[in-house]
Amino acid sequence: MEEPLSTKRFQRRAEDFTCAQCGFGVEGNGYTNHCPHCLYSQHVDIHPGDRAAECGGLMEPVGIEPFGEKWKILHRCIACGHERKNKVVDADEFAAVLELQQKANKKRFYALEKDDSTRA
Ligand SMILES: [Zn+2]
Ligand SMILES: [Zn+2]
Repeated sequence: MEEPLSTKRFQRRAEDFTCAQCGFGVEGNGYTNHCPHCLYSQHVDIHPGDRAAECGGLMEPVGIEPFGEKWKILHRCIACGHERKNKVVDADEFAAVLELQQKANKKRFYALEKDDSTRA
């Protein structure tokens, strides 16, 4: 009488979730994998959308890179260090994307500072 603990009952569907970082109520559309308000994500997928990761850690947006005409956010899991890239979507708040760009640039400038001998 053993019921196989299969994942048959799980189906990929649009899920609403509350952002664990800022508490924003995110309306899922099946592709949503990060908060449009603070851009944080959660480590729930091994492959996009499968929700198979057991970690569940908060994924911090740590970088951003051009992706065609759009951008990709680099997320790093605070709990386990896993990194993943996620496309910026139209729903994402532009201000948050800008802020991340500035943050990422600043990091780069810090790295370059060693070579820069001009100091005020
Ligand atoms: Zn958020
Ligand atoms: Zn993780």
